[in-house]
Amino acid sequence: MDLELVLKEHGLRKTTFRKELLHAFYNSNSSLTADEVKTKVGESADRVTVYRALDAFEKKGLIHRVPDKNNLTRYALCQSKCSTDAHSHNHAHFICNGCDETYCIEDVEIPVVRNTKGFVIKKSKLTLEGNCPSCADS
Ligand SMILES: [Zn+2]
Ligand SMILES: [Zn+2]
Ligand SMILES: [Zn+2]
Repeated sequence: MDLELVLKEHGLRKTTFRKELLHAFYNSNSSLTADEVKTKVGESADRVTVYRALDAFEKKGLIHRVPDKNNLTRYALCQSKCSTDAHSHNHAHFICNGCDETYCIEDVEIPVVRNTKGFVIKKSKLTLEGNCPSCADS
């Protein structure tokens, strides 16, 4: 994985911290909160830097917000090609009751709901809850 190229393709300046941040997401098979990011990239980065970089990554279509069991802001890597202006995925998210992780479930699409009785739908989300494969036995 050429991290510098990925950053370049998404119009992001390549800094050592951003490379580390991206690396943390590629190495995580689920999703990360800002605090988890901070732990992974070490103490070199302060909170503001972490939040700013996450914000930039989200705006540029590298990561997207996913639901969190404790309503923390949590991000996951975009698997599909998201562009600078728009995220283009339509998948469900799974919150595990065992490990509190949130997973992207790429092969479950959100069903299409038509606008109804004056309620104009702009966005729909599908969040599933249960046990992930590693917590299935508990
Ligand atoms: Zn996306
Ligand atoms: Zn789990
Ligand atoms: Zn997702």
